[in-house]
Order: sequence, then C-alpha cells, then structure tokens
Amino acid sequence: MMKAIRVHEFGGPEVLRLEEIPVPSPGPGEILLKVEAIGVNPVETYQRGGSNPALPLPWTPGTDCAGTVEDVGPGVEGWEPGDRAYTSSSISGTYAMWTVAPAAATHRLPDRLSAEQGAAIGIPYATAWRALVQRADARAGESVLIHGASGGVGLAAVQIGRALGLHVIATAGSPAGADLVRAEGADHVLDHTAAGYLDAVPELTGGAGPAIILEMLANRNLGHDARLVAKRGRIIVIGCRGPVEINPRDLMVREADVRGLLLFNATAEELAAVHTGLAEGLASGSLTPVISRSFPLAEAAHAHTAVLAPGASGKIVLLP
Ligand code: NAP
Repeated sequence: MMKAIRVHEFGGPEVLRLEEIPVPSPGPGEILLKVEAIGVNPVETYQRGGSNPALPLPWTPGTDCAGTVEDVGPGVEGWEPGDRAYTSSSISGTYAMWTVAPAAATHRLPDRLSAEQGAAIGIPYATAWRALVQRADARAGESVLIHGASGGVGLAAVQIGRALGLHVIATAGSPAGADLVRAEGADHVLDHTAAGYLDAVPELTGGAGPAIILEMLANRNLGHDARLVAKRGRIIVIGCRGPVEINPRDLMVREADVRGLLLFNATAEELAAVHTGLAEGLASGSLTPVISRSFPLAEAAHAHTAVLAPGASGKIVLLP
C-alpha cells in the first residue's frame, strides 16, 4: 500500500484527501517510478474543480514527477531499477509515493538536477519549448515578450529563449519574481502590476514590437498584445482564464497571428521532439528549473492555493 492524494468529489482544495491505496503495477510498455518529488501545475486545480473535462472519480492528480525506476512492464527496454527519471505523462497520477507512466513519456534525469528540479520539467518546460519552437517557430535574433515569466512555464521560456538566442523581455508581478526572471537571463523585466508597463515595449524592440509574445493570461492581455506585436508576429496563447475583447484590426494591419497552444494536443512525435530538444540544455546547464516552495504531500491543498496566488517565483513541488 502507499499514500496518495485522492479526489472523490470535485470542489475546492479541501477535496484533496491523503489516503492509502495499492501501489500500481506497470503494464506493457510502462514504468513504475518511486516518486521523490511532484510538480504542481495550475491545470490540476482546474481538474480538481471539475472545470476541465471531468475526470472519472476517485482520481489521483498529477502528471509530473521525478524519482527512480522501481520496476518495468513487459516490453520495456533500456531502463533498470534505480535509474533516475522524470515524466510528464503519469497514468496513475503523481500525487502519490509510486506512479506508473508510459516508457515513451519517461525521460532521463541528469545527475546535475535534484528530484525537485526534475519534477519541475514536465509540463512547464515542454509547454515553453512547444510554444517557442513548435508553435512560434522562433529564430535566433528575434525578440520575445514573455507575458508572465515568474512562474513554471515563464521561467522555462526565459531559459529556453536565451538558449535559442532570442532577445527576451519578460514580465513579473512581484519584486522577488522580477529579480528571479532577471537572474535567469531576461534582457529586460517589466512589472505587470504597474500602470502603463507595456509602454516601454516598443522602444525595447527598436520600435518594431516583439516578434513573439508568449501569453500566460490572455483574458487580461490579448487585446494589448495585438497592438504590441511586430508585423508578421506570432502571439502564442498559453494561459487563459476567461473571455477578452480584442480588435482584430490590430492583427490585420500587422498580418500577425494568434496561435493557441494546448500541450495535451501534442502528438507523440512532437512530444518526443520536445524532450529530445530539452535534453541537451538540461544536461549542460542552460536549462535549470527553479523551485520556489515545497510542501509535504499531505499539504497538497496548500500547494493548490499557493499555485494560483500572485507573486510566483519559480515552481511549487510536493514531497511524498
Ligand atoms: P504559475 O507558475 O502559477 O505562473 C503564473 C504566471 O502568470 C506567473 O508568472 C504570474 O506572475 C503570471 N501572471 C499573473 N498575472 C499576470 C498578468 N496580469 N499578466 C501576465 N502574467 C501574469 O503557472 P504556470 O505553470 O507558469 O502556467 C501559466 C499559465 O499557463 C496558467 O494559466 C496555466 O494553466 C497555463 N498553462 C497552459 C498550458 C497549455 O497547454 N496551454 C500548459 C501549461 C500551463 P506573478 O505571480 O509574478 O504576478
């Protein structure tokens, strides 16, 4: 038996209950991981509330974790018990002491990274890579505005943007978040809580506007983004919590694109390319996840409140 968080009814953070359930078994093509750290993503709060396509209950949240291989199912090659790994596609849920994931979605964790850092790779780094490389088609020398750079996805995008040779303008909403974004390599940092903070963007991009905007809160910012983006620029909608008014004429005169991104839509081939692309930077040090806070697994409810609170400065993880 193992400890795991279980959800029996959709609702607020209080529906996250610590229970004892059987340790899952890996099926064909699957790996059993001993979980050492768990990545907490905003999507798990939406799922817990029942707003994303409702999940069958009872449910163990979580797709991201890092740990060691405990056992492998039939047909799995190249993995041995004790190997360090991370995944972003758990089948059984990662808010638990053990989890089962497809071997194809389980990746080597470089020795230089802790388990907490490994748990921060999955959704955030895959989303940031997909945004810049697969959706925005970023090219070295282009400018990117990362609108909401202090959280899990944003910091990953800052590091990936630097590694790709982009000129990075990034926003944060707290002094600690701004300091962190700057330390992680942003060329310019703006405070998205300050009045008129976007006025600086044209000058920071030589008058042209950013070629790429990665948007973490489109319901607040998309209308402004459409007026800021460069001619033939690309706005990638990553985060959105409601409707927004935008003047399509702003896109028309710039011949700019608004492109949605949903990581769960990526094909197996695209995901394999994402993790191959990330591997070099994770090993060499250009990509290094930053942890803001860790909570014991039993305090998953606090972690769910914290991940939606303003003032992000890195990634929130749970420790089993
Ligand atoms: P996170 O760690 O909680 O970070 C949230 C970020 O949003 C912080 O940087 C926060 O900045 C920023 N923010 C707050 N107010 C903002 C504003 N007015 N303008 C711009 N940014 C603002 O969350 P995350 O994991 O990075 O995810 C970010 C968003 O993307 C979430 O909505 C998440 O659901 C979504 N997401 C979508 C996908 C997908 O497949 N489409 C994948 C991953 C994540 P401060 O806290 O400093 O104010």
